[in-house]
Amino acid sequence: MKTSWKAITIGIVFGLVLLLLLMLSTSDKEEEQPVTKERVEIPEPKEEVEVTDMYLPLRNSEKRKTPITHVVIHFVSNVTEKPEDPYHLEDIRQIFVDYGVSSHYLIDREGDIHQFVSEDRIAYHAGTGSLENFPHYEDQLNEYSIGIELMAIGTKEEMAEFIDEETYEALDPSFIGYTDAQYDSLAKLLDAIHERYPEVERSREHVVGHDEYAPDRKTDPGSLFDWSRLGYE
Ligand SMILES: [Zn+2]
Repeated sequence: MKTSWKAITIGIVFGLVLLLLLMLSTSDKEEEQPVTKERVEIPEPKEEVEVTDMYLPLRNSEKRKTPITHVVIHFVSNVTEKPEDPYHLEDIRQIFVDYGVSSHYLIDREGDIHQFVSEDRIAYHAGTGSLENFPHYEDQLNEYSIGIELMAIGTKEEMAEFIDEETYEALDPSFIGYTDAQYDSLAKLLDAIHERYPEVERSREHVVGHDEYAPDRKTDPGSLFDWSRLGYE
């Protein structure tokens, strides 16, 4: 009799210990949940835009903590190094890697969209500058914006800081300006952005050129970029 009571007591104690362990592990899981909920939620796109991932190293961007309210349009090329082949995708990606800068998207000459940085991270594309109606964004626009690069070359004057006159004159004329495919893809990408972030209003107040934010420093996307094709007022 004595032995069986001992066995029952040990059994009960074991059972209680197991129950306690089980409760502890369950409460651990419950505690983890609010952390997940507190993360900044980036909504999924409703209309699918075809994008190829080509992410830059994480050191080229940082975690975003502020809302997205703007888009900044840029041009980019490798014309300084290779005026005869300025739009090689890997060369252009390497420029960003080498200079420690970044943009979220790059639209190539065929209109294919490549993603360099995810939207929940701040990309380094706008730098210092200001917007008249958003004084508190001075030198901070990266934190509130998505950067979109289009592979393009501007006018001779706009390209003066990259190449001399002679090199510009020798360029294949088809390299200059923007392609129809780029406008089409940009319009789709912007539609998806407006849908995901209603704070990015469909207006030129919220979709700006780098040359408008930093006019004394930057010439992109320049005068060859036709804003009227995006349908903003
Ligand atoms: Zn730019």
